[in-house]
This record gives sequence, C-alpha cells and structure tokens, in this order.
Amino acid sequence: MYSKRTLAALFTHHSIRTTKRWIHDEIRVRFAPSPTGYLHLGGLRTALYNYLFTRNKNGKFLLRIEDTDQTRLVPGATESLIEDLLWAGIQIDEGPGFGGKCSPYVQSERKQIYLEAVRELLENDTAYRCFCTERRLELLRKEAIRTRQVPRYDNKCRYLTPQQIAVLLAKKTPYCIRLKLTAHEEPLQDLIYGPVSHNVSENEGDPVIMKSDNFPTYHFANVVDDHMMGVTHVFRGVEWQISTTKHLLLYKAFNWQPPLYGHLPLLVNHDGTKLSKRQGDIGIKHFRDKGYFSEAIVNYVVSAGGGFEHTPGQKQQVYSIDELAQQFSIERVNSHPSRLNPDLLNDFNQLHILKMLQSKENTEDLVRRVKALVRQAYPKEQNLDLDDQHIENVLKWAAKRLTFIQDLTATKLSFLWVRPAEFKLKTISNDQMQSLIENLVSIEFTKDNLNQKLKEFADENNLKFATFMKTLRSALSGLKEGPGVAEMMDILGKDSVLQRLRSNTNFKSNEAATKVGKKS
Ligand code: GLU
Repeated sequence: MYSKRTLAALFTHHSIRTTKRWIHDEIRVRFAPSPTGYLHLGGLRTALYNYLFTRNKNGKFLLRIEDTDQTRLVPGATESLIEDLLWAGIQIDEGPGFGGKCSPYVQSERKQIYLEAVRELLENDTAYRCFCTERRLELLRKEAIRTRQVPRYDNKCRYLTPQQIAVLLAKKTPYCIRLKLTAHEEPLQDLIYGPVSHNVSENEGDPVIMKSDNFPTYHFANVVDDHMMGVTHVFRGVEWQISTTKHLLLYKAFNWQPPLYGHLPLLVNHDGTKLSKRQGDIGIKHFRDKGYFSEAIVNYVVSAGGGFEHTPGQKQQVYSIDELAQQFSIERVNSHPSRLNPDLLNDFNQLHILKMLQSKENTEDLVRRVKALVRQAYPKEQNLDLDDQHIENVLKWAAKRLTFIQDLTATKLSFLWVRPAEFKLKTISNDQMQSLIENLVSIEFTKDNLNQKLKEFADENNLKFATFMKTLRSALSGLKEGPGVAEMMDILGKDSVLQRLRSNTNFKSNEAATKVGKKS
C-alpha cells in the first residue's frame, strides 16, 4: 500500500493543476506538539506510533512546534519535550535544532508562509474577508442559545460585493479571513477507524483561518505545514478526528493532495477513566525520576494501543524501540480505547533489567548506573564496595527480585555497598576464621549450601550458633541486624564474602586469638 511507486503516484496525481505539489519519494510523519506543558503518556503514545510507523517504512520523523496560540506557551516546554522524546529513544530527523529541508519547524517563525498561503485562497475565491465585529458575533451566539440552536457563524461576509469590500478596506476596518466550507460527501478513510463521515458544512459556520492580528488559526497552520513539510501520514489523537474533515476541505481549497490520516483512540486508565494532564504522575519526567527505563515506558504505552501481532499465551517480553518498529503494523492498532495496565509497567522494568544482563555491553552500562546511584546514596562513605564484579554479582542475584535498580540502595541493603568498619573478632579466633574461609572457598554459594556449612562449622568448632552468626554478620556488614547470614552471603557473592572475612582476620582480634592468629 505504501511502496515508493504507489506513493509517487499518489502525490503526483493532481500535479497538472498545481505546481506546488510535493513529489514524495519517502514516508514523512510529524509529531506536532503545542509547547503548553510537558510530555505525558498520551503525547508520547502519539509520538511513538508516528515513529514506529515511519521507522518500519524507512521514513522520516519530523518534530514541529505548534505555538500559534502564544497565550498558552509554557517557557522551557519545547526543550523539555525534546529531552523526553530523545530519552524515550525517538530519533528526530528534522525539527528545531535538528536541521531539515523544511525549516523553520516552529510555527511562530512561519508567519510569512501562512500569509502567502492565505492570499492564494483569497485569490482562488475559496476564502473571504470577514469584517464582522466581536459584538455581532456575540449577538449571533446569544440568539442561537436563546433559540436552542448550536451557535455558528452565519457566513454573512461571504456575500459582500467587491465594492462593499473595497469600502471597508479603505476605512481600514479590521477583518479576519474565513474558509468557504463546501459539502464534504466522501467519508474520511481513517487508517485506524475505517470510513468516518462528518459533514462539517452542515454543522459549522465558515471557520476563521487567519485572525485579524495576522496569526493563523491552528487548523490553517497545521494544514499548510503538513503540506509544505511533505507529510505523507498523520497519526494523532482521536480528539482531532472531527477537525480532519475541515482539514480535508482546506486541502481541497488549495488543490493539494492530503496526507493519509489515522486517529489514535483515547488512552485511558485501567478502569476506563480519563488520564488527566493534571495528574502529575502521567508526565514522562515523573517516570524518569522514579527510575524506569525508557524501554519499560515505551513497551507499556504500546501494549495499551496494540499494533503488533499477539500470539495467545506468548510470554511477556520487553522490546527495544527498533524491534518494535520492525514488528509494527498500523492495521493492528486498536480503535477501542487503549487501557493502560500499571502492573505491566513494573514487569517491563524488571524484564528490561534481566534483558540487559544478557549482554556484556549492557551489563557494563548497568554496573555504571548502579555505581553512580550508590555514590549518590552514600555521598560521605569512604569505604564503598564498588568493584565491578561485585556489582554484577549483586545485579544477577537481584534481577528477579527488583523493579528498579534504585532499590539496591535501600538502607536494608546498605551492607552490599558499605564495607564494615574495622572489627574485633571476639567470639572466634583468627585460626577459626581462617579455617572457615578455607571451607567457604570450596563450596557453591547458595543459601542452602551456606546454611548447612555454617551449621557444620559451628558444631565442629563448638561455637554457639547464634553467637557465631552474630559475629559473622558484624564481620560481613558491620550490622547488628539484617537478612539471615546465609542469605547475606548469597547476595554478597563469594568474592565479596571472602574479601570481607579476610580483611577482618587482618584486624586486631582478641588477645588470645592474636597470639595464635595467622595473617592471610
Ligand atoms: N498541536 C496539536 C496538539 O498538540 C497537534 C495536532 C495534530 O497532530 O495535528 O495536539
């Protein structure tokens, strides 16, 4: 359906009638946020589906900033949107700061382009100047409400004569520009919803496309830009579907070939309720701060909307964004509301940690991250155990039990990182410790093996088990409480256990022990 040849045919179809047609030889999609806030799950979902679609077809992903409504701008929002998109793994091929053949990619910098475009519509008589005052429009609204009708502009200025227009212009009467709506019989062929009919001219008055301050309205700028930027496919939230017929009429007025549209259903909570932008916890920043990997968030979002083949009973997996792009097909995206399943999010994060541990490079990356987190959690600690192999051992032990790598810095696991301070062996001698070390060298470190060995050792040496455990716990962790000693040993791993015990036999022990104590 979207082979290069078909596309070229699609977009050159009307080229005899206008010279301003793009000849498309590639798929081009755009994500067009308004910088009125931060990226949240819904926005990421839209960006992702555009991205997966275009990567699947070797196309381009454009970022366009739709800032025509200057009153709603939030300073810094564009920068933070870009940061979150990049964090999620979305590569921006063209956009503000990314270069591209259609710059500028910020609407407030494209005003001249819109002025020229609107002139074209005035010339071909598909748009007209409207001199109605705000007062008249208000009266129309009130009258409609009184008579229980939907308020709509009555298209009065459509019928002004050239002479009347000339007089009004000479008097410098302010005006906006409206599009002449025409009947729109053919349904929109929505790539996700199928055919959708909405005859806009029956329901609305002629819409404003250029305001009296020469700022384009959202609809106008959106259409002009999609065309000028060579956008071939538009995937956006279903809340825009009702506007799409209007957009198609604009394409018709210009005699431009429209892109293909697909609308994404509402993204909702698990119980079907609406996600609210005001719920701070749907912001991508919130998930980043909590310690989720971008892969977990990406898989979470697309698992709600579909787009992939699903074999029943298939084991849950976490895919990279490239793997998702390979498998993606727009025909499989659901048209019913996409329910987020929060349980999956944590599962995905855990699965991702496990997946990372399967490759050397990613394990090194994890080790680096853990190191940084531990340093951050124990800024004053001088004696941290941050040997790479130790961290890797801990990660391997922890992978099936952890949701976040941040959990590894929890206070109850501090023994993993903070080496015990100098310690006096009181209840066992240095020789006994030495012999214990020798015993431990040869066994496989599992909780059961360790438990058994420690019991045997206590019996053979006539040590009171509870006291022996206390000593070992202190020697290993400097702590009086914590997980069972065998478990602690299992988590620490053989290397760290032996190292910690050995360093304790080096310390000054009780007097009796010192006399006979061997240094190792
Ligand atoms: N600026 C619109 C928004 O933020 C984009 C709509 C569209 O993708 O066409 O939702």
